[in-house]
Amino acid sequence: MPVRLREALPDEIERWLGDAGEPRYRALQIFRGLQARGLEPAGLTDVGKTLRARLAAEAGPPAGEVAEVHHSVDGTTKLVIAFADGAMVETVLMGTTIPGRMSQCISTQVGCAMGCVFCHSGIAGLKRNLTASEILAQIHLARVHVPEGEQVTNVVLMGMGEPLHNYEAVRRAIQIMTHPDGLGLSTRRVTLSTVGLVRGLEALGRDFSGQIALAVSLHAGDDAVRSRLVPVNRRHDLESVVAALRAYPLPARRRITIEYTLISGENDDLGQARKLARLLRGMAVKVNLIPMNQHGASPHEAPPPETVEAFRDVLVRAGLSVFVRHRRGADIAAACGQLALRPST
Ligand code: SAH
Repeated sequence: MPVRLREALPDEIERWLGDAGEPRYRALQIFRGLQARGLEPAGLTDVGKTLRARLAAEAGPPAGEVAEVHHSVDGTTKLVIAFADGAMVETVLMGTTIPGRMSQCISTQVGCAMGCVFCHSGIAGLKRNLTASEILAQIHLARVHVPEGEQVTNVVLMGMGEPLHNYEAVRRAIQIMTHPDGLGLSTRRVTLSTVGLVRGLEALGRDFSGQIALAVSLHAGDDAVRSRLVPVNRRHDLESVVAALRAYPLPARRRITIEYTLISGENDDLGQARKLARLLRGMAVKVNLIPMNQHGASPHEAPPPETVEAFRDVLVRAGLSVFVRHRRGADIAAACGQLALRPST
């Protein structure tokens, strides 16, 4: 049985070794080499030469390569990753508030099918899903761009694509990211951001017992406004999304992040803030307000700062924790909603 080695879990590697007449006990060592250390199969010098060659043949060429590197004045780095078929995605490295720790925003699809009116990633629709190894390759390929003394400790699935619309590959990638012998990330430091696909939310909650941090893009306080901004709301309305959030098996003392991109004249009136507060009453959430990042493909723009403040105040007075998300990497088009398909794809 062939195995997709670059995205195989230890037990799958073990089975392959058994079928190939190789020692099964090497499985964990190979998994660690490929995932924890990010080595190419040919670089697994702690296994014998013959097995190494078989592993290299089985794995085939690397999933992707870095095509472009952009550095922002605020320290954010955006990488453009090109895959074997020429498809490209973007991934972003950001500092966190804790020295030595970085956060990486990764993509899960080439393009996006959701069609949110303010987001650049969905303009040309969905080109294709990424495989688990292509999702992981973004982290492996970024390693050499992580500054000395820093380490990626947080991963946010908030780049291009809707992660729950490519759930099988995303699940496998998260399993490897959070495996102690894989990338070894803490489950609470992996955040999946979704438009709120109800079946996917149920599956994520079940498969990871609610341990994966969740961010949900609401962007409105009622269905009329949300359906206009987030077309998929016509299939999964606010009530069904909120019901799925209430059912998510969230561990004690943890909160779901509610993302709300503020767009001038569309969803920034205080009536929406009041409706949002009512919708979220009694839930373990924090609200992230994101003044819209502008890009050439959308006529929409961010409200003025005083509108953002007034909106925030309504939520705060209703007892919610609210954060206004700072814009990062806007000068290199690496901010939320600015990740786009390359002209060549
Ligand atoms: N599909 C996932 C992840 C995508 S983007 C989701 O919908 O959550 C991550 C966040 O950036 C989402 O909340 C998205 O709505 C927001 N976003 C998209 N375009 C934006 C823009 N132009 N300005 C600010 N935020 C934007």
